[in-house]
Amino acid sequence: MKFLVWPGDGIGLEIVPVAVAALEALDARFKLDVELAEQPIGLASLATDGNTLPDSSIEAARDSDGVIMGPVHSLAYPPIEEGGRSPSGVIRKELDLYANIRPARTRPGVPAAVKSMDLVIARENTEGFYADRSMFQGSGEFMITEDVATAVRKITRQACQRIGETACRLAMQRRRKVTIVTKKNVLQLSDGLFHDTVREVAKNYGQVEVDDVIIDAMTALLVRTPEAFDVVVTSNMYGDILSDLANELAGGLGLGGSVNAGDDHAIAQAVHGSAPDITGQDLANPTAIALSLAMLLTWLGDRHGRREYIEAAKTLEAAIDDQLADEKGRTKDLGGPLGTTAFGTELVARLAG
Ligand code: NAD
Repeated sequence: MKFLVWPGDGIGLEIVPVAVAALEALDARFKLDVELAEQPIGLASLATDGNTLPDSSIEAARDSDGVIMGPVHSLAYPPIEEGGRSPSGVIRKELDLYANIRPARTRPGVPAAVKSMDLVIARENTEGFYADRSMFQGSGEFMITEDVATAVRKITRQACQRIGETACRLAMQRRRKVTIVTKKNVLQLSDGLFHDTVREVAKNYGQVEVDDVIIDAMTALLVRTPEAFDVVVTSNMYGDILSDLANELAGGLGLGGSVNAGDDHAIAQAVHGSAPDITGQDLANPTAIALSLAMLLTWLGDRHGRREYIEAAKTLEAAIDDQLADEKGRTKDLGGPLGTTAFGTELVARLAG
């Protein structure tokens, strides 16, 4: 299958090579028949092609089976008219990657702020409060006067149905519980539509228990009773914020893997950003992007009926758990001695079997 690699910016250039090395090791072991191509995006393609996500990159992604995407330093990009597109926003919209699946779980031996957590956030990924994706054309943010700015937040029944289906299907493979997170007490129409639509979808899944929690209470409950949650379904921005919180509580942002998935395409992308504060110091934890790769392999295995992809994903997850269980196998953010590269070398040795 065809994999496209976008290293991205900042620590992306350090962690993505670890995911690629892991994929090559799994390919050798499980005969995955991997074809790899790499392209610069972000500040690198801005320098060479004048755009942080050239049109040719979008076409290359459309033409591949899966993409491994590093974090991007979007805060450092110029305005859109000077080539500063948001790669995450544009590609999610272009490939209709409507579900961002973000698990967070405590792992054996890894120090965490909470005792036990094993949940998955199903985040709607194509609309909500993101000005660059809510509109057909133009930005959803407006400067009405120099002292007044507004932003459009879009919630559609169709997007709520799709993420609701995703959440219920996920729950059926897990502990059969879905928690809908909104602010429907204040955003009665838009979050009301999200809540009511997901509830309606869930009626087709009689074995799934459904409850709902208001977003502000959810941040407290994630700290107080994280073990109570199985699948959390929510809109774009709440999901973005909750997934950072959940992963940090479960051990650290460097553990947050995720996949952006649609019906035809999927992209492995860590929850975290480009971490400019630690870039270039061999301090980044590549676990999140490696876990994202495992999720992409699972998605590809399910979609194409390729059992060896599912086996490879399980092997990668298990190797990461084994490595993290021993302090000597961890990066410095988790109290271990390893740099990014050394972590990758050890992981690849484990995968080689
Ligand atoms: P960040 O997620 O990059 O970093 C937050 C904190 O977590 C930092 O202290 C960082 O050092 C740490 N951290 C993050 N990933 C880590 C890892 N793998 N190992 C160890 N420590 C890690 O958030 P930020 O600093 O607010 O954003 C930096 C840039 O990333 C901004 O330009 C932002 O727009 C962008 N961003 C991109 C994505 C993405 O590409 N998906 C997501 C979030 C933020």
